[in-house]
Amino acid sequence: MRIIDIRECSIPVSRYADPALRSGDLTTSLVMVTTDAVRAGRPVIGYGYASVGRYAQGGLMRERFVPRLLAARPEALCDATSGALDPRRAWDVMMAGEKPGGHGERCVAVGVLDMALWDTAAKLAEEPLHAVLARARGRGREVPARIRVYAGGGYRYPRNDLERLADEMRRFVDQGFTHAKMKIGGVPIEDDLKRIEAAMRRLPAGAHLAVDAMNAYDLETGLTAAAHLAPLGLWWFEDICDPHDFTAQARVASAYAHPVAAGEALFSLAEARLLDAHGGLRRDRDFLLFDPVHCYGLTGYLRIVEHLTQQGWPRSAFWPHGGHLFSLHIAAALGLGGAEVTPFAFHPFSHLSDRLRISEGHVDLPQQPGIGFELNPDIMQAFATAFA
Ligand code: MG
Repeated sequence: MRIIDIRECSIPVSRYADPALRSGDLTTSLVMVTTDAVRAGRPVIGYGYASVGRYAQGGLMRERFVPRLLAARPEALCDATSGALDPRRAWDVMMAGEKPGGHGERCVAVGVLDMALWDTAAKLAEEPLHAVLARARGRGREVPARIRVYAGGGYRYPRNDLERLADEMRRFVDQGFTHAKMKIGGVPIEDDLKRIEAAMRRLPAGAHLAVDAMNAYDLETGLTAAAHLAPLGLWWFEDICDPHDFTAQARVASAYAHPVAAGEALFSLAEARLLDAHGGLRRDRDFLLFDPVHCYGLTGYLRIVEHLTQQGWPRSAFWPHGGHLFSLHIAAALGLGGAEVTPFAFHPFSHLSDRLRISEGHVDLPQQPGIGFELNPDIMQAFATAFA
């Protein structure tokens, strides 16, 4: 097996189901890995994209990581015994010469390529990714057929915000979700409390709603928000302050008895260690939202999960950010708590697939080889257009 081509392309994405609504001119990177291998009469091609909510990373890929992969000898990318493509060895090739620290968004460029390489490897193995991962991890138990998910969204609408937010929550429930997450922060807490009330009315209970401040608070406003949120008994209070302000994170957590969630905006094992050591998080209730793509891909994410579970964190605390099928496989294979889904936000990546049943807050796992992007015509159209 040889990788014969790797292409990348940047496309715009929107936080809203209607991409005409402006949302910061977000972009994401799409990647296509083409091999000379053939399965079922077709060349094996793997796909990846740079998660959502930030910006594309094409420059770093073009300048450093793609040339390193294409220049590598095939045996440098493959398992020495089986000869199978091993994305962990490919990760070492990509990171050759890179210095510790300076993670910046290098981790995202590597992560999107890592996602495409895992899709490729699972297709070469003719197995769904979760089966490949479970075997590689030596997990003796069966991967479950379904895993827990929640619906992420609830961004502030420029017009008719309360009505549209309530309608979005209602549609989450209609789709089979039991838990949802909405955005807060950036406005007075009194305004957010009205939005939270509107959302909670559409969900089974307050404990089914998480709120995400998108790192908007400082210590003072974070403490104020925590005092107002505490009586609501929310599922979790996420991304409270600047992701590196561990002092504020710890102070707010100590004043808030209900669960908090953090880690989405930290992209490396080194940062995860700092969060655990100084962020005041509690292993018995809090949640860890590291995004496998943003954290140098699965290879980097595994190092974070392994370290933190060795420090006493339960696997059930991990709910990977991203809203993509990749996180679904990872959560299932590693026995994590569950995964985020974005049913309406971030088109064309705005839902998993119409062919994966969601009910009672769980979703069926894809069972075809690879990650399963082929189950979603919108995503495959995006790849086809980008790489036409
Ligand atoms: Mg968040």
